[in-house]
Amino acid sequence: MANGGFSQKFEQWLYGRNGSDDVARLCANVALVLVVVDLFTGTRWLSGVALCLIVYALYRAFSKDVAARARENEAFMSKLGPARPWVSSPVATIKDHRDYKYMKCPDCGQRCRVPRGKGKVRVTCRACHKKFEAKA
Ligand SMILES: [Zn+2]
Repeated sequence: MANGGFSQKFEQWLYGRNGSDDVARLCANVALVLVVVDLFTGTRWLSGVALCLIVYALYRAFSKDVAARARENEAFMSKLGPARPWVSSPVATIKDHRDYKYMKCPDCGQRCRVPRGKGKVRVTCRACHKKFEAKA
């Protein structure tokens, strides 16, 4: 009974808060890497930086100003360019790059995705509809 009451109160407390976003996840992941590096190098200040990143990630996750956090998140993510999927979902991106190869359209420079291991394939650019052959 008491346990159910606590989880209900916690859910109410979480309601209307930002939750985990790309920037918070990136901060947490970088913090984890810094802690591991710190374990092997013994530079204590890296753990301090990691702690600051975790505090910032928690601040973002529990912030009630969801609109402001969403704007910051989008502003940061839009600056990343082609690195965006690697930050947003690294595991999905690794899987994607295992199954697909990316190449640029020779005409317009549009990024085209072709399945890996299919040998020579005929690619049609989605932007300019130019057809070209590529090794995948
Ligand atoms: Zn094209």
